[in-house]
Amino acid sequence: MKAFGYERAASPADAAAAARRPGTRFIAGGTNLLDLMKLEIETPAHLIDVNGLALDTIDKTGDGGLRIGALVRNTDLAADARVRRDYPLLARALLAGASGQLRNRATTAGNLLQRTRCPYFYDTDQPCNKRLPGSGCGALEGYSRQLAVIGGSRHCIATHPSDMAVAMRALDAVVETVKPDGSERRIPLAEFYLAPGSSPQRETVLEPGELIVAVALPPPVGGRQLYRKVRDRASYAFALVSVAAIVHEDGRGRIAVGGVAHQPWRREAAEAELPRGAKAVAARLFDGATPTDDNRFKLTLAERTIAAVLVEAQEVRA
Ligand SMILES: Cc1cc2nc3c(=O)[nH]c(=O)nc-3n(C[C@H](O)[C@H](O)[C@H](O)COP(=O)(O)OP(=O)(O)OC[C@H]3O[C@@H](n4cnc5c(N)ncnc54)[C@H](O)[C@@H]3O)c2cc1C
Ligand code: SF4
Repeated sequence: MKAFGYERAASPADAAAAARRPGTRFIAGGTNLLDLMKLEIETPAHLIDVNGLALDTIDKTGDGGLRIGALVRNTDLAADARVRRDYPLLARALLAGASGQLRNRATTAGNLLQRTRCPYFYDTDQPCNKRLPGSGCGALEGYSRQLAVIGGSRHCIATHPSDMAVAMRALDAVVETVKPDGSERRIPLAEFYLAPGSSPQRETVLEPGELIVAVALPPPVGGRQLYRKVRDRASYAFALVSVAAIVHEDGRGRIAVGGVAHQPWRREAAEAELPRGAKAVAARLFDGATPTDDNRFKLTLAERTIAAVLVEAQEVRA
């Protein structure tokens, strides 16, 4: 691991201001960043530890929603009584991720910003435009079973690995930040992740030094909420495909899919097809997909997972 400086921030504004320095990264649970530093995939010159900041509460908002502090641990978020009652989709997605020990450390902001699990990204002997811009993409001509079927580019077809983000996308979450100049902004999760295009190393709209302080959930939308994750083994594995669904009595609803793109994949036009069933939804959702021979199966798997979730939603109601 490369040597780095370390400091603890006293306030969110101080953390963001200190992160103005080039080569600075925030560290929260460290469950992703430290692994990447050990492999020298990430080599920050300076770390700002945000764990001491008072960003670890879940508060009711004036409009009846919830504001989740950036440092709320995944375990605490999944166990929160209001989340379990009003946003069960989120609790289910969180519990489908990682392991108990990891969830005890992992934070809300860190989870959103965890990096891809593309095997070429982790193998520093291989070309990877995301790790080393301009070096090429090992996955495009190589092994791409786990990678994106839609939204990618000829420079990168990595997927975003978070389960939590898929549920938050279905729930229309909004990311709240503070920038190094002290200004604040609110970014809908729908606009948070960037398509890889020709610069896959840039993954979100966050500016250098911009600190996530919270994630806001709008008021509860009700409906039957389900999260189904399909993976190579029953636990401790990332999704091949996951489906977050909110299904209402009248057949309306929301669907977001994980494991298929650089971000949780949701298209409102596909949701309009819900009364017609999974085939119609999947056709709209994956219109324009560009799968590889290795991962074409994900399109069928996603359609079948959506079908299974819709059946489950009806069974529970019956
Ligand atoms: C073996 C293993 C299995 C896993 N399985 C799953 C799984 O099945 N599903 C899943 O969803 N996840 C899984 N994970 C990933 C895990 O959920 C993430 O590592 C974790 O959520 C990251 O949170 P953290 O707080 O530890 O982030 P850190 O590692 O501390 O940080 C991650 C990134 O976020 C940045 N950051 C942190 N906080 C802030 C902030 N407030 N503002 C701006 N930037 C910030 C850091 O600079 C860094 O770039 C797995 C991880 C491991 C190691
Ligand atoms: S898909 Fe993206 S992360 Fe994977 S090797 Fe290609 S450029 Fe790197």
